[in-house]
Amino acid sequence: MANPIVVDAHMHVYETKAEGERQKAGYEIWEYGAKPGVPFSRYGGDVEDALAAMRRGGYAHAVTVNLFAADLARAEALATLPPGADRTRALADIDATMGDRLRAFNRWACAVAATHPAVTPFVAVDPGVLSAEANIAHLREVAGLGARGVKLHPVVQRFSPDDPRMLPVYRACVELGLTVLSHSGTARGATQYAEPRAFAEVLRRFPDLTVVLAHLGGGSWRQTAELARTFPNVTFDCCEIVEWTGAPHAPSDEALARLIRDIGSHRVMLGTDFPWYDLDRTVERVMALPLLSREEKEGMLGANAVRILRLRL
Ligand SMILES: [Zn+2]
Repeated sequence: MANPIVVDAHMHVYETKAEGERQKAGYEIWEYGAKPGVPFSRYGGDVEDALAAMRRGGYAHAVTVNLFAADLARAEALATLPPGADRTRALADIDATMGDRLRAFNRWACAVAATHPAVTPFVAVDPGVLSAEANIAHLREVAGLGARGVKLHPVVQRFSPDDPRMLPVYRACVELGLTVLSHSGTARGATQYAEPRAFAEVLRRFPDLTVVLAHLGGGSWRQTAELARTFPNVTFDCCEIVEWTGAPHAPSDEALARLIRDIGSHRVMLGTDFPWYDLDRTVERVMALPLLSREEKEGMLGANAVRILRLRL
């Protein structure tokens, strides 16, 4: 029998290995509670690393869903200030360039994909960095450069998915055929920006929008089945959570498999969150899930992503 197609629906790629290492060091994964021995990738995650990992894991294609973290960009810029520099002034200068940084970051992601046809780019949108109008104008530009979706991280970017500044952006995504992939999970603090039920209003208002909730709800995974039942238009990737099973706030392997079966495995895609986790290992994790049939798991490896994300391979 032919090998199933393998597609990574959720990976990150960085301009340099050092930048990838910095982003990994600055992103704490706490929401599942402690789990000793989670096998993190040793890759820094530049383009060369990503292509090598794809070859090693037998991946036909990958979707890059780069996160733009303005807070981290601010912290990095402040860290390089000489002693005695005016921090308030420096912060204002950094913020004045944040929109340009975001746009340059997205153009770079599109340029990578333009030279590497095995990669499809999703670009970052942040309503705190650009106005709705500016975000939409930029989306029109990058859609012309090959972008096929947007990546949101409501926790890091601190906005609710149904924030009024985002509604015109979703409308533009429907019009441009862009998928919206968002981090989902538990937020530290009172406002649960990205728990599954926080997406209900967006799903209700935009039934024609392709929405992917990453991590199957993460530490708030117990809300996921109900959201999926209510909204047939919501789909998921299984990255991160597939490595954290058994942690205090994560499902067991069996509970994760049951959740995927309840949602319908055809709505769940493999993602790796590379360079956090390894591509070859993630295939093994999906194929080792209990309860699901071999056909269901093979669909999750890649065929579901090709169909849901309308990938041109
Ligand atoms: Zn990610």
